[in-house]
Amino acid sequence: MTTPTTLREISCADDYDPASMPVDKARALIRKFLAPVTAVERVHLRDALDRVLATDVISPRDVPGHDNSAMDGWAVRFADLAPEGETPLARVGESFAGRPFSSALGGGEAVRIFTGGVMPEGADTVVMQERATEVEGGVRVHAGAVARIGQNRRRAGEDVRRGAVVFAAGQPLRPAELGMLASLGVNEVSVYRRLRVAFFSTGDELRSIGQPLGPGEIYDSNRYTLLGMLRRIHCDPIDMGVVRDDPGALEQALATAAGCADVVITSGGVSVGEADFVKDVLDRLGDVLFWKIAMKPGRPLAYGRIGNAHFFGLPGNPVAVMVTFYEFVRDALHVLQGRSDASALPAFRAVLSAPVRKMRGRTEFQRGILARGDDGEWRVSSTGDQGSGILSSMSRANCFIVLPVDVDHVDAGAEVNVQPFEGIV
Ligand code: AMP
Ligand code: MG
Repeated sequence: MTTPTTLREISCADDYDPASMPVDKARALIRKFLAPVTAVERVHLRDALDRVLATDVISPRDVPGHDNSAMDGWAVRFADLAPEGETPLARVGESFAGRPFSSALGGGEAVRIFTGGVMPEGADTVVMQERATEVEGGVRVHAGAVARIGQNRRRAGEDVRRGAVVFAAGQPLRPAELGMLASLGVNEVSVYRRLRVAFFSTGDELRSIGQPLGPGEIYDSNRYTLLGMLRRIHCDPIDMGVVRDDPGALEQALATAAGCADVVITSGGVSVGEADFVKDVLDRLGDVLFWKIAMKPGRPLAYGRIGNAHFFGLPGNPVAVMVTFYEFVRDALHVLQGRSDASALPAFRAVLSAPVRKMRGRTEFQRGILARGDDGEWRVSSTGDQGSGILSSMSRANCFIVLPVDVDHVDAGAEVNVQPFEGIV
């Protein structure tokens, strides 16, 4: 079968079952529709942290620019050193970092050199200062002070060669990349435009913080978890507030969001019972697929397009919002940001400290606490109550314990996959 290119083609595929969609398959289907933003801007290196390179960076120079010393010591000619016993050499000058020795070194001569100092012409090797004794007018190099020619000498271009691709388009710029770019003398880079992500919550029961609560009403927490997660991955969030469970209000909010953002994220309103009118509105405005993902929490999920915007309809439950964001939206946003390293949250193996139960037939993302035991081994334990409304479980957790579809329990002491999503203490 050829790769489906439209949402309609996907929904016609033989193995497509929207009522039981495996996690990996949903992620892969979404991937087919994602392409990086095209707009590019030039930014100064100072403003480039966490942006994504839009073009390759070619090195304009060798780094380091000159052969230089890796040690404080003495620049010498290897051939002058006696195979056995000490070698006396005459001191003819100094090479400090940034202040090179200006002439050439001849036979039987040494130049006092410091880390980063340019290798003098005529010298090929550096003797560590601990392996030589300074004497009046010179130095005595100890027997066996260097093993081979070129020792303790850094070669010009050994870090980066002039003309080499230092970073390819798609590289996220972190502190190390900023430093590398500065070492090349680059002061501006081309980066993809920041992604605009509009989001709102749906539900008649929701009130925004700062408003009084009426009977049966609750505060909207999803907009704050979304705001936090979006900021963490360096998007420009557009908070559109709470939208009532009303087709007209929903349609207007979706149209406004799609008109001003690259991505629209909603929470709530996609579960059974509510899906009908939401589905009608989305069908009218765009092209959206509704899935029941074989996972817990986070069963209902909608993905599609509204105009030029990508649309993610997340479940309403506070934990489900976070889990579906981490499992589907996060890496999708990375692709749209142009990152070449976009991938699902990485998983590691850790030993389970107490048994866990689950239901067969779905992937479970239990909230876990990953910590190193006194014996140095990484162990993970569940946070306890796994209800999808228990947001405090996400706050206590630093990882998901990812339990595969086909098991119904895991014993203590067994290894499980964990996906860290917060700092490990
Ligand atoms: P829904 O998917 O709209 O049926 O919502 C599922 C559950 O999540 C209900 O208990 C809602 O009250 C709750 N919920 C939905 N949206 C939010 C929100 N923004 N903040 C907190 N709870 C929410
Ligand atoms: Mg609702």
